[in-house]
Amino acid sequence: MQMVTEYSNREVSERLVAAGIKPELREFFNACIDFHTYAAPGLLIGVFMVDYALELLGKKPTDRIYVTCETHKCLPDPPQVIMHATIGNHRLRVLPIGKFALTLTPFSANEYAEGVRVYVDRKKLEKYRVLALWFDNSPDFKAGSMKRQVVDEILTAGKDILSFDRIRLKVTHKKKWRSATCPSCGEQVPEDLMEGEKCVGCGSLAYYEKCQ
Ligand SMILES: [Zn+2]
Repeated sequence: MQMVTEYSNREVSERLVAAGIKPELREFFNACIDFHTYAAPGLLIGVFMVDYALELLGKKPTDRIYVTCETHKCLPDPPQVIMHATIGNHRLRVLPIGKFALTLTPFSANEYAEGVRVYVDRKKLEKYRVLALWFDNSPDFKAGSMKRQVVDEILTAGKDILSFDRIRLKVTHKKKWRSATCPSCGEQVPEDLMEGEKCVGCGSLAYYEKCQ
């Protein structure tokens, strides 16, 4: 029989209450866990990060805020659920930098947008032994026996493991574009996605072949 080594989603909900997390934030945790399908450590940290960034900005989740995540792991989900900043509505972008960090920048019609960057501060993890092992992807992190403890440490720590900087970034405003027909596949693509005589889908980004 396989040992259950991690909290069920319901147990995590109970831990949130026990950790004294305010009801409104608990709702965000539960919605994010539901969306992500399980309470991954990175997801839980991400909820605290979004909450902290909004607090630093003095903004509400419903405000028009743009998000950049510096890793594709877990972190892109909390801003989608909490702020409705999604890839599809162009308010979320994910850069493959590999840092557990995100920036929130309220809408700006100018060349630059000002906002805040929140990140997991490795120095602040020293107090949280298991969480530090998990964060470092250390071979000493034993998934079989430490998964509950890492969740407990995350909920105890809250924003205590986070730091922030005030930042500004260059805004990419929507550009006008024209449609083109690819002679190879006959489908429509924006003109700047043609690579000479082929679209990128037929060229450098081709990723499938048709079955007969
Ligand atoms: Zn094509």
